[in-house]
Parts: sequence; structure tokens; C-alpha cells
Amino acid sequence: MNTRITRTLQELGNGLYAWVQGDGSWGWSNSGLVVGEDGQTLVVDTLFTGALTQDMLDAYAKAEPAAAKIDVLVNTHSNGDHTFGNHLVGDARIIASEATREEMEERPAGFFKAASANPAAYGVFGEFLHEYMGKTFDFSDIEHVAPTEVFKGSRTLHVGGRRVELTELGPAHTRGDIIVYLPDSKVCYTGDLVFHGGHPIMWAGPVGNWIAACDHILGLDVDVIVPGHGAVSDKSAVQGLRDYFTHILAETKACYDAGLDWEAAAFEVGYANFDSWLDRERVVANVATIYRDLSGGKVNPAQEDVLRQMLRYSKGANCPHDAPCGCGKAH
Ligand SMILES: [Zn+2]
Repeated sequence: MNTRITRTLQELGNGLYAWVQGDGSWGWSNSGLVVGEDGQTLVVDTLFTGALTQDMLDAYAKAEPAAAKIDVLVNTHSNGDHTFGNHLVGDARIIASEATREEMEERPAGFFKAASANPAAYGVFGEFLHEYMGKTFDFSDIEHVAPTEVFKGSRTLHVGGRRVELTELGPAHTRGDIIVYLPDSKVCYTGDLVFHGGHPIMWAGPVGNWIAACDHILGLDVDVIVPGHGAVSDKSAVQGLRDYFTHILAETKACYDAGLDWEAAAFEVGYANFDSWLDRERVVANVATIYRDLSGGKVNPAQEDVLRQMLRYSKGANCPHDAPCGCGKAH
């Protein structure tokens, strides 16, 4: 594990906390804690490994003794960096969207454990996992624990008398993204509907849904945004992300209209003001999903191809073909 990463418990006031991990790059996700007046507790998301999750839960309990017992866990979406520590919340109720539970069943923790232990046997997925996550995280202590309660649309919880509003705004990052909103404190835990300081990755889309999700969050009475990855912020992080998607959509559409295939487009789109954002290889996945949207599903890039091109992209390739392809670009 990369011990140079800074993990910080940030007090937001009014019994609310954020656990922020490093710069928010691959696998370094955030979590949240809500404490009600009667000591009831709600946690937003677990982390990528058992050890990381336990450290976080210990920090929560140190800051708020009531958090030694977690009453409710909300999973904002299915990805392992938000769910692989679910086994550490005791007998807490675990709440997520129905689509999130389905996704968790499709690719459970055991699959990651096996693939990270033997990446060569898992083809391009194994390579992807090893390159971006397996080198950094030790998956030997992860477990699959599914949500115990699911919903569609929206659901309101009461945690020690506090109103906690869950709203499903996916499919966007994944098929079942939800946000967790505390109207009494004007705080929103967005899960991976907001990446702050890094490129978002659109596994599911459509892009129009993600832009609409940004608009929904921008329309809330909210002062503090706790993103799924990156530093705690305010609505400016959401507006920045919305600008990113409208920019990438316009760039991708120009390539689509010019007749480029999706792989060529992925290497063609420019970032404009987003050049400093982390994990730029994710643009490959975003372009692939936008091509699917623009073509009405006729172009449907296989995940294997998306992962392969992301790997090539982050290793510095300038075009989607293996040399010599005659495209005239450096390889
Ligand atoms: Zn994440």
C-alpha cells in the first residue's frame, strides 16, 4: 500500500465528517460520517480494502465515540473503492440503489481478489487492474457484502432525527449512482458523480444523464460538496465537472461528425482547461461512451477494447494502432 498518501478526517461541523484520501486518483476514494443527536450514525461508503476501511472507522470512532457502532451504511454506487469494506460495519443496515446491488453481484469482491492475485490469467482486465490499482492496493482482505435494502428513485432516512435524502441520479458514472444530501447542514456527499481534480470516468452514461446530475446538484441548497474523489469543495467543483462534460461532448461530436472511429477520436479530443486534471486516460472511456450515445447504440465499444486503449494512452501512445500503422504520428 502506498503509505505516502495522506488520509484526512475533515470535520464539517454539525456532526458531519469527510474522510479524504490523497489526491483522489484511481482507488483513492472518500467517505462520510453523519452523527444524529441521539448518537445514531450513518456512514457514506466504505473503501477499497479492509485495512483502509478499518483505519477510517477507527478515526471516526475516535472523533465521535458513537461511531464505534455504525447504524446505517449507504453505498453511493457499486465500485469496489466504495464497497469493498462493507464487511466491517457490523450489523448496520446497508442501503443502495437497486441497480447498484445488481452491479455488485455481477462483479463481486472475490473476482477482484482473484484477478489481482493472478492478473495474467485475466487478460486485459487483469492488466488494467494491476497497472492502476493492484500495484498500490492489497485486495487480500476484501469481501463481498451486498446492500440489505435497495430503492429506486429517492428515499428519505432519519438518522437520530436528522433528515438524510438519498436521490438516484444515475446511470452516469455507474448504473446506480446516488447522492446523499443533508438539508439541515447544506452538505452533499456526491459519490463519484463528482470527481474533483481528476478526470471523471463514465462507465455507464449516457453523458446527458451526468450533465443532468450536475444540474440537479447545482440546484440544491448546498454549501459543501464532498466528492467521491478529491478535495472537499463547493458547487464550483460541480460546475467544473459540468464544463468538462460539455467540452468533451463537443470535441467528441466533432470527431464523430467527421467520420472518425471511436478509438481514433479518443486520441484526438483536446482537454482545453482540464489539462492539469489527473488520470487523463479516462478520456478514452468517456469518448467510447459518448460514441455509443451519439450513435444510438450502433457503436458499442467492448469494455476490453476501452481498457486496452486506456492502458496504451497512459503509456504515451499517440494513436490507437500498434506501430507501424502509417498514421504519421509518433508511436
Ligand atoms: Zn470511486
